Amino acid sequence: MSADSATVLGIDIGGTKMAAALVAADGTILTEDRILTPPGDADQVFGALAELVERVVGATTPIAVGIGSAGPLDLTHGLVSPVNITGWRNFPLVDRVRALVGDVPVELGVDGHCFALGESWTGAGRAVDTLLGIVVSTGVGAGIVVDGKPMLGQSGNAAHLGHMVVDLDGEACACGSYGCVETYASGPRMVARAKRRGWRPGEQVDAAVLSADAAAGDEIALAIFDDGAQALAAGIVATAVTVDLTTVVIGGGVAKAGPVLFDPVSRWVKRLAQLPFVTDLTVEPAQLANAGLLGAARLAWATT
Ligand SMILES: [Zn+2]
Repeated sequence: MSADSATVLGIDIGGTKMAAALVAADGTILTEDRILTPPGDADQVFGALAELVERVVGATTPIAVGIGSAGPLDLTHGLVSPVNITGWRNFPLVDRVRALVGDVPVELGVDGHCFALGESWTGAGRAVDTLLGIVVSTGVGAGIVVDGKPMLGQSGNAAHLGHMVVDLDGEACACGSYGCVETYASGPRMVARAKRRGWRPGEQVDAAVLSADAAAGDEIALAIFDDGAQALAAGIVATAVTVDLTTVVIGGGVAKAGPVLFDPVSRWVKRLAQLPFVTDLTVEPAQLANAGLLGAARLAWATT
């Protein structure tokens, strides 16, 4: 295969869906497909992923593989234990994928890191060297890119902004702590908080309905989005003053709310970011629909 036709395989593993794509060196996606993450035991889940990978790869031989996965991860041993994929606990994903695709480099990264890396590569962060990327969805994930590389930390789990404590008297969080950004800003937690304040009693509703109600001027929905935005802004500003960065990109299902989320986030960031080196902090929506998948592919290209 000639160098300019070489491709890598990017894989994005989430609790809701799994995606795979062949990606060229410039970030062009050549083939892409996705499936809903199936329930089941370790081999049932992997079997579905293997079929997806085989379908996407076809007759091609990717020169490397990058995998972005929901955590927690053990990057040293290539193990994944995604909170929302109960069949995988310390599952040897790197070895199993390598057995599928042949003896090529297989790189694993946290899904939030891959999101930030994807946006940094071909999305909203193209023009800057340093970027904080946040995914606001069922949970709140994040990644920091410095000089084009994800900041990993000693265990590879840096930038868990969703579990930054922003309220010393806050509610219990799934992580065992309390007052985390996620307890205010994740979709399910925003819906639960709105429900407790009397929003749409007895109805089965989700964050998309909450954001539509906020856009229509519902006072409870607006207040809940403002609280979520304040918590996100606190996490953003704390990260910015720690790492010294100016660009923040937010994606994920809840970010589809648009101005209902971004207006109060920007307002709170402006209020909280007072040190001179963070007063220019900008927060913008993600540009890519598949930043996590592209970031995983970027991890693969970095090995070549
Ligand atoms: Zn937490």
